[in-house]
Amino acid sequence: MQTAVTGYPRIGTLRELKFALEKYFKNEIAQDELLAVAGNLRKAHWTAQSEAGIDFISSNDFSFYDNVLDAAYLFNIIPERYRKLNLSDLDTYIAMARGYQGPKGDVRALAMKKWFNTNYHYIVPEIDDRTEIRLSGTKLFDEAREARDLGFACKSNIIGPFTLLNLCRYTGAKKAEQFADAFIGAYRELIVKAGQENIRFLQFDEPSLVQDLTADQIELFRKIYRSLLPSSGNVGIILQTYFGDVRDIYPELLELPFAGIGLDFLEGKETVNLIEKYGFPGDRILFAGLVNGKNIWRNNYEKTLNQLDRLKAKGINAVLSTSCSLLHVPYTLKHETALDETHLKYFAFAEEKLQELKEISRLAGLSDYVQDPAYIANVQLFRSDRLATNHEVKARVAGVTESDYVRQPARAQRQKLQKKAFGLPLFPTTTIGSFPQTKDVKEIRSAYRKGQIAETEYREFIRNKIAECIRWQEQIGLDVLVHGEFERNDMVEYFGESLGGFLFTEKAWVQSYGTRCVKPPVIWGDVYRIKPITVEWSVFAQSLTGKIVKGMLTGPVTILNWSFPREDISIRESISQIALAIRDEVLDLEANGIRIIQIDEAALREKLPLRKSDWNSEYLDFAIPAFRLTHSRVKPETQIHTHMCYSEFTDIIPAIDNMDADVITFEASRSDLQILDALKANNFETEVGPGVYDIHSPRVPSVEEIIKSVNIMLSKISRDKLWINPDCGLKTRGTSETQASLINLVAAAEKLRSVASKIETGGKTA
Ligand code: GLN
Ligand code: ZN
Repeated sequence: MQTAVTGYPRIGTLRELKFALEKYFKNEIAQDELLAVAGNLRKAHWTAQSEAGIDFISSNDFSFYDNVLDAAYLFNIIPERYRKLNLSDLDTYIAMARGYQGPKGDVRALAMKKWFNTNYHYIVPEIDDRTEIRLSGTKLFDEAREARDLGFACKSNIIGPFTLLNLCRYTGAKKAEQFADAFIGAYRELIVKAGQENIRFLQFDEPSLVQDLTADQIELFRKIYRSLLPSSGNVGIILQTYFGDVRDIYPELLELPFAGIGLDFLEGKETVNLIEKYGFPGDRILFAGLVNGKNIWRNNYEKTLNQLDRLKAKGINAVLSTSCSLLHVPYTLKHETALDETHLKYFAFAEEKLQELKEISRLAGLSDYVQDPAYIANVQLFRSDRLATNHEVKARVAGVTESDYVRQPARAQRQKLQKKAFGLPLFPTTTIGSFPQTKDVKEIRSAYRKGQIAETEYREFIRNKIAECIRWQEQIGLDVLVHGEFERNDMVEYFGESLGGFLFTEKAWVQSYGTRCVKPPVIWGDVYRIKPITVEWSVFAQSLTGKIVKGMLTGPVTILNWSFPREDISIRESISQIALAIRDEVLDLEANGIRIIQIDEAALREKLPLRKSDWNSEYLDFAIPAFRLTHSRVKPETQIHTHMCYSEFTDIIPAIDNMDADVITFEASRSDLQILDALKANNFETEVGPGVYDIHSPRVPSVEEIIKSVNIMLSKISRDKLWINPDCGLKTRGTSETQASLINLVAAAEKLRSVASKIETGGKTA
């Protein structure tokens, strides 16, 4: 049986590409040097796959920033403002990705969005009425030639026309459908040129097919491929899908003459049923995505081989493949020196997945693979108990009852009690939690981690930082204070380290966007809280002031979504365990005099299923209750806040209200009133702080500007429910701009209050 890899990570085992790019951005290295690093990485990745014996390897899965941007660039989808900078090709591309500020001009970057249900972000290409979509770039052909010259036979990957058309933003009068013919023309040029260049296979990635499709979209897809495929000549077109199944369009796909179709057997719950029901043509290749491209656990050979046996029995020409690009997993276990074999033997990162592909394909070719030592060893791995059951955790989860999900009394009543208890002014001001992580803070934390300074010294430093932060907030007159989060770097890592059941890696980086990588922890076992995590810092901060200091926690959904989850228990169960651990912390904070507790759910939206029909049953039905579980036992007067990044939750507002928090802060872009309208339309009950300025930019907002945005908010949100705050944590900002911005924020709130009270007294005398 042949093997395929949908796509390979490109940032480098030790993030070589990231570091080279960052140096290039700072003008520390020349373009040649960057290109050399990139070339070496491509070669290394092709070599790794080829040495592992993979039959279908990709080229053009490399990218300096993002593959969607690569496709846009290839097809001349380059907004005029970037062209006008008159930069080199590579620098124009980088300007689109990161913005440009320099002697040639000042332009902002294109927007960035999450790639389907992953934590990878793609650049959103922009098309206006004058955009001339045509093949203008050469990257795909250059890399195909480069691979061939090195002796590697590769398929060339590219985002497919249907998905690219779907993901672009259309800023002119012409909308997506009106560009369909232009896309078809451009992709036809690509196919023709690929033929001239002797490219054997083009892999068109069409993940948009795993979402709910309308009849019009299905028609559009057919139109595109009906006109592209007949002219593909010697170039085989592989239709690659991932992150789900193609239930809305499967029969139509079979009618189109693709050389091969890639289907996801893991996240695609209906994939097997679709094949069962409609079959699969014997003259095409089925790229069977059975090795997980998103998670880091070893493949279960028994399951995979059973599946392959069934495909074989149907006479299907299957190639064993990954469920999606390996971009979403780390490179290799080789550098994980802190973990021992008892853990490592359960994991497969990208390199190890190559070995798995090879081994499974070898087994699939044997008439009696159950006798093979490799098979037996794998079966044993899955049969043996990886973990000792934590009976306490199990019992606790089992003991959760309906009432554990319900906080009493109802929110409206609590809000009244809390107003009285806190005596906060109208339009209370607060921040999201973190204060600038200045160089000294980062240095001290790193020195402490490396054992270069003693714990007492470290604690003293953090206490001083907290004290300074509290003093400053009091001084400028904020109403609800925070301790500043100086002791945290990555929030999930911070909590994971104090929870039983988490495992940390050293070098297991995964690209999140551009040069940014994350290192998600692994949920290894049952999760429970070992000891209080934040109590000491919060209590210390509270002891310094008469004002209220918010406790600051990360919620269960976010902790889970930013980790590699277990596969031996359900997400639902894992999330309940984490929720109970956080609940312990919530109750400890309360018992120690903390009266407002914020439980951040920055990543709540991230794992929302791609199909609307799955939203509730597959996610919201347990994610939202898990949040409620964390705070359902606090006193009526204890105020629960939550925070969410991005305002992309217009469509799940009732679910957010159902979290039953007392207050939520989030990011709303001022130009876009959609979310505020939606809050109003849904009678949103939670008090809200939609964020009065953008912390992602160093700009200091003026008092007038802030007042203006608050007034817009007041047209949609009742004034006794409105909080005034920045739109996210301040940790990435500098101190001076943060101070100036917050001073203006408080001044704006004071002005708004005095206007409100004048209107009130005016109203009374009239
Ligand atoms: N409390 C966190 C902070 O302020 C929230 C961060 C986030 O939502 N990403 O940094
Ligand atoms: Zn945020």
